[in-house]
Amino acid sequence: MKRSFIGKLLEKVFRKKPVSFSRFPETLFRPEFASKYDEFSTERLHVSTSDQVIAFSRRWLDSSIWPKWELDERKLIEAATLELVATAEDQTGIPWAPIFYVYSLHAIDRYEVFLSYEMFLEIRFPHLKGEKKSFGTSQWHRDCYFCSITSWSEEQAVCPICDRELTHSWLGD
Ligand SMILES: [Zn+2]
Repeated sequence: MKRSFIGKLLEKVFRKKPVSFSRFPETLFRPEFASKYDEFSTERLHVSTSDQVIAFSRRWLDSSIWPKWELDERKLIEAATLELVATAEDQTGIPWAPIFYVYSLHAIDRYEVFLSYEMFLEIRFPHLKGEKKSFGTSQWHRDCYFCSITSWSEEQAVCPICDRELTHSWLGD
């Protein structure tokens, strides 16, 4: 399996310190949906009501059973993410900020979690339907949860680090 960018950075830091390798991306917790991806993504495409969002989230996105990062790991990840932010800013000329997700999922799974949230956004908040996303107001963000970086600029549609499509998040209510 190809190692993620964060994984590579963690490896670099861990190599210098005699710490446990138990949290490497290959052995990071993978939610059930990772091994049943076809079923998960097909079911996700058919979610169209609030009740279905709740049922889907209970079935596939129950974070109560997901492990969290330890404090020392968090510090490493945050330092690594700041480097990604600097790279993203160099490449795009727009501001980026780090995001930290408390659950220690594989980066691919983390991205899928937030892609799901984005797909359900207008079901959960019907008043957003058809509304223009006003970037620059801090209400709408564009995120890459694979790389853990976010921007509130409208200009960028794909992540400058990993080329994945950025997901939208909405910070209003
Ligand atoms: Zn990315």
